Parts: sequence; C-alpha cells; structure tokens
Amino acid sequence: MIGAALATRLHLGLALALWSLALVGLLARLVVQRPETIRERANIAPEAARHTLSTVLQAVTDALDMPAVILRADGMILQQNEAADRSFGHLSDGMHVSARWRSPSILDMIRDTVATGLPNQVEHSERLPSERVYITRIAPVVMPQGAVADEPLYLLSFKDISELRRLDRMRSDFVANASHELRTPLASLRGFLETLQGPAKNDPKAQERFIVIMLDQANRMSRLVDDLLSLSRLEMKAHLAPEDKVDLVSLLGHVRDSLQPLAEEMDVELSLDLPDGPALVLGDRDELVQVFENLIENACKYGQDGKRVDVGVKAISGKAVEVSVVDYGPGIPPEHVPRLTERFYRVSLADSRSKKGTGLGLAIVKHILTRHRARLIIKSEPGAKTEFTVRF
Ligand code: ADP
Repeated sequence: MIGAALATRLHLGLALALWSLALVGLLARLVVQRPETIRERANIAPEAARHTLSTVLQAVTDALDMPAVILRADGMILQQNEAADRSFGHLSDGMHVSARWRSPSILDMIRDTVATGLPNQVEHSERLPSERVYITRIAPVVMPQGAVADEPLYLLSFKDISELRRLDRMRSDFVANASHELRTPLASLRGFLETLQGPAKNDPKAQERFIVIMLDQANRMSRLVDDLLSLSRLEMKAHLAPEDKVDLVSLLGHVRDSLQPLAEEMDVELSLDLPDGPALVLGDRDELVQVFENLIENACKYGQDGKRVDVGVKAISGKAVEVSVVDYGPGIPPEHVPRLTERFYRVSLADSRSKKGTGLGLAIVKHILTRHRARLIIKSEPGAKTEFTVRF
C-alpha cells in the first residue's frame, strides 16, 4: 500500500516538474517575441542603421531600369538611382523635388501621397534633352514595423512610355493615311457613276471615256488593298526568320523576265551582271521576288530618264552577298532618303500617282528585309545615279 502511494506521489511530482518547465519555456518565448527593432536585434547604432538602409535602398533601386528617386515627406531628395542619373543628371543631395520637377501635377501628387499614404501617378513629359513621356508614380516605402527607418520615405519612379506613344501615333496615322488613300479613288468612282446616271446618260462617247477612268481608279484601289494586306501579313510573321536556301542568281533572272515588258514599255534597258555560280542566301523566295520587283520597278519608273538600269550581285567579305539596283534618273534629294521606307512617304505625290505608286513599295521591302536580317542601303547623287543595295 505504502509503496503504491509513494509511486503515485512520484508520478505527480514528475508531472508538476514537467509542466513548470513547459511554462518557463513558453514565458521565455513570449519574452523573446517582444517587438524589438531589427536594429536592436542586430545591436546596430542608429547612424550605422541609417547607413545600412541607404546602402540597401541604393542597391535595390540601382537594379531597376527605370529612373527612381527616394524622397522624404518634406519633398527633399534623399537618393536617386543610376537610371535617374542617366535620364535627369545628378540631383544634389538635399535638393527639393520642386527644384527639378516644377510641374504642379507632380508636386500635387506627392503632397497627396504624403497626406494619405496612398500611391498616385500622373503622366509627365520632359522636353530636354529629348522629348519623352513618363508615367510618374509616387508610393510610400512601407517598412515592417520596427524596421530601421525612423521617418517615412517615398519612391518617385518614372516609366518611359515615349515609344508606346510613338507606336500609337504611327498606328493612327497609318489608319488615317490608308483611309485617305482609299477615299480619293472611291469619291472619284462615285462621282463618275453619278455622272453616268445623270448628265452622261445618253452620251456614249463620255461613257466610254469615264469607264476607262473608273477602271483605273478601281485598279488603284485594289493595288492599295493588296499592298496593305502584304504589309499586315508581313507584320504577323516579322519575328520568324526564313530558313529556305534561295539562289539569288536564278531569282534575279526570273524577276528580270517578269519586268522586261515594263522596261521595254518605258524604253529602259535592263542589264544584269550576275556571277557564274549560284549566290545562296537564307530566305523566302516569294518575298525576295517581291523585294527585287519593287526595287527594279521603281528604278525603271523613277529613273526612266536615265534609260538604263543595272542590277548586280557580288559576294563581299566571306559570306555576305550584296545585290545592287542602279538607275541614272533625276535621283532623290538627300533630305528625303532617310524617310523613303516609311509607309505612304513619297518624294512627289503627283509623280508617284502618275506612275501607279501606292507609297507602300519600299515599306514592304524594308519589312521583308528586316525579317531576313538583311539591310537596305540607299545612296543617291541627284542628277547622276541612284543605288539601292540589299546586303544579306
Ligand atoms: P511608290 O508606290 O510611290 O513607288 P515606294 O515606297 O516604292 O512607293 O517609293 C516611295 C518613294 O520613293 C517614291 O514615291 C519615289 O518618290 C521615291 N523613289 C523610290 N525609288 C526611287 C528611285 N529609284 N529614284 C527616285 N525616287 C525613287
């Protein structure tokens, strides 16, 4: 009996001891979990902690590719990253944000965020050193409770959207230009149809004349639609480099045969200077046919006065191959040369229209060559000769 009671008491004592140990452990954990700052935990002095914070902020913001500036609540600039340095130059420490950005929308936005603690953004343009458009955003730098920052900080960042804006403008210009180009022949067709229904109803001679003009306008519209479709098809596969082997020598022979009637009609002698063997490049045969048809056709049309067009192929340094198309017409004034491959760009609108141009030929050439990783080089000496070179 006594033995059994002793055993029970021993068990009870053991249980109590274990329970107390657990309680002490729990209390110790609670004490350790008292909110303490990272600084206290790491035992860092406030100055050193501030230095660490600024080093970390600098390293993190330098890793960003967009300009970023750290501000105090009073608008003083504390730090700027490398991208901000490149875009806006060095802003001296302690400078007020308004000394660099005077725009009221930016300053109001900053004030608003400092007051509410909520991020904000506005669109902002800079004129110098070059015209740029930014989405400028301000956001509080939210630190975990007890972290080293002893004052609120704000990140002012600049997302450059100039390129997006340029593309948007190009797209809407393109739609406007394409509609305008289509509207002109369409209006002329409608005008003639109305005349045929009314004043020219019983005039077979006028009817005959008008029908020829109407056919001409309809052809112009379909050339334009064909070129627009070609461009949009090319845009869809712009990133796919062609992989077939194409022999430029046989391809140019084929292009010459198809353009010979046009050259004869324009009284232009088309001469080809080709190597004996093949000149192979990676490409899409149909697209390259289109490139050289456009270039040789332009040379015959715009260089008609020179009466001769020379097409040559030569292999240069190792694997590169060059095809040149030379005419001896009036040439292109230098200020127009850089813009010739823009859609609908023409040196003379009347000249292009009279030669059945759409203003899209060289834009198509440029698109095809970009896909082929090839370059178009245009050199013109007005009054002497004009050379379009394709370098593969
Ligand atoms: P288009 O359909 O008007 O011919 P392109 O894009 O093929 O359009 O050419 C754009 C413009 O470039 C032409 O309108 C013409 O003014 C100019 N151009 C192109 N090739 C030549 C050339 N060989 N000589 C002179 N001007 C040229």
